[in-house]
Amino acid sequence: MTSIASNLQIDSTRLWDTIHETAKFGLTAKGGVRRLTLGPEDKQVRDWFRAACEAAGLQVHVDGLGSMFALRKGRDMSKLPVGLGSHLDTQPTGGKFDGVLGTLAALEVVRTLNDAGIETETPLCIVNWTNEEGSRFAPAMMGSAAYVGDFTTENILGRKDAEGVSVAEALDGIGYRGQESVGAQKLGAFIELHIEQGPILEAEAKTIGVVDHGQGIIWYDGRITGFESHAGSTPMPLRRDALAALSEIVLAVERIARELGPNAVGTVGEAVIAKPSRNVIPGEIAFTVDCRSNDDTVMDALDKNLRLAAAEIGRRRNVEVTIDLVWRKAPTHFDKTLVDAVETATRELGYSNRRITSGAGHDSCNLNTAIPAAMIFVPCKDGVSHNELEDATQPDCTAGANVLLHTVLSLAGVASK
Ligand SMILES: [Zn+2]
Repeated sequence: MTSIASNLQIDSTRLWDTIHETAKFGLTAKGGVRRLTLGPEDKQVRDWFRAACEAAGLQVHVDGLGSMFALRKGRDMSKLPVGLGSHLDTQPTGGKFDGVLGTLAALEVVRTLNDAGIETETPLCIVNWTNEEGSRFAPAMMGSAAYVGDFTTENILGRKDAEGVSVAEALDGIGYRGQESVGAQKLGAFIELHIEQGPILEAEAKTIGVVDHGQGIIWYDGRITGFESHAGSTPMPLRRDALAALSEIVLAVERIARELGPNAVGTVGEAVIAKPSRNVIPGEIAFTVDCRSNDDTVMDALDKNLRLAAAEIGRRRNVEVTIDLVWRKAPTHFDKTLVDAVETATRELGYSNRRITSGAGHDSCNLNTAIPAAMIFVPCKDGVSHNELEDATQPDCTAGANVLLHTVLSLAGVASK
């Protein structure tokens, strides 16, 4: 690499100003952002993003689900572009950084290369994926899931929000149903910068998380059927108390995840008593379980141990326990070559770092099933995100963008003059 390229740094002030400039599209009173996918604020930020990309000399095109691709030519146009980016939609009470940082840092990378007059060997393509958050339309990470073929475009176009508006209607409403068929813009690799959305980097005072895994997820719907009877006249040994059984299951989930730790977590997040009454022993309860790990064998053990524990508790307490699997997503093992490239760039820039697992889902997890993908994490304040209080420091965002720049340069190569 030429020394100009190897010493290159992004413009920290420009990146920071850009993040705060776009935060005005959906800014909330508490300083967060409300920018639901395909709504009016999403249209505003998309229009801004398109104009900024075009001003940077990029060719912008939009696919049939509204995902935006901004292409920067490389010397060798026969090569598949290196993709970089994230998403610009937010949660209903979201922050300024989730998704936004990765998309705008990608723009900053291109602006930096433009300023330095650097042409890459391989073309680059900035991507803004439609509906990463999933709060208006399900599923989350919709654009990237369709891109890799998990859903057909027609299937996604028919999905409706709570008001009955379909994805197709919402796309047409903001003028972002593009001509290009989903998946047509091929990418050779994808790199995404993102805030950690967890507390680890901050607690360890590390600047960069080199993301090597994404959590696998198992969701269950559970039901316990006991017998409703009088709270005063039913002796303790004769009871078939569904809530007492659930209490044991909740503690079993906690114990199992701890025993399989540190790379395992388990949560009973919902529990509903069918006909609650203060003087009736609960007879029927519906509940959910969420288990996660970055390791396939731990996932299997979580599943097996949960089922064994539930069956034992049900037998002993004479209640019926059913545990139905509703969703299982395998752990993501990010592409080794790309993860190494992120780590090398981080070390060469001299930033403190550690390998890390992503606890949240990301577009890159979907993409990694079809093309090599990797992620770069930077700390966020108190590990908080999906919250208006979400915050990150300018030096950390700058460091993350510099790692993105040099990872992309190492993958795309600098064209010799
Ligand atoms: Zn995100």
